[in-house]
Amino acid sequence: MRDTSTLKVMKTDAEWRAQLTPDQYRITRQNGTERAFSGPDFEPGRHGTYHCICCNRPLFRSKAQFDAGTGWPSFLAPMTDDAVTRHPDASYGLTRTEIRCADCEAHLGHVFPDGPPPTGLRYSINGVALSFEQE
Ligand SMILES: [Zn+2]
Repeated sequence: MRDTSTLKVMKTDAEWRAQLTPDQYRITRQNGTERAFSGPDFEPGRHGTYHCICCNRPLFRSKAQFDAGTGWPSFLAPMTDDAVTRHPDASYGLTRTEIRCADCEAHLGHVFPDGPPPTGLRYSINGVALSFEQE
């Protein structure tokens, strides 16, 4: 059993299905991945905050965003270290670290150790898992 005691937002599968679009549901609740360059247009350069599409928790600031050229929004770090949780993911024969929203467990994407300074990390996030709030 998964430990869900730290989650602030818990909904049933039916509730998530009713709230989310089919794409949002598939990616955030069923560990999907959007095709590169298919997500919302989240080009770096705007000022604001990216929120979890499921529970609206603020997750990433635009100033931590960079263009990794991958077709997915990429960030140096989350807004606060405890905004996301990290989980080993061995699917597809790869060893990756999955990133989830700390409040509702939405699957967001993965973190890779090949980012630019200062963190050297690349949080590669599905655009449909995020909403953008301009500042
Ligand atoms: Zn969330």
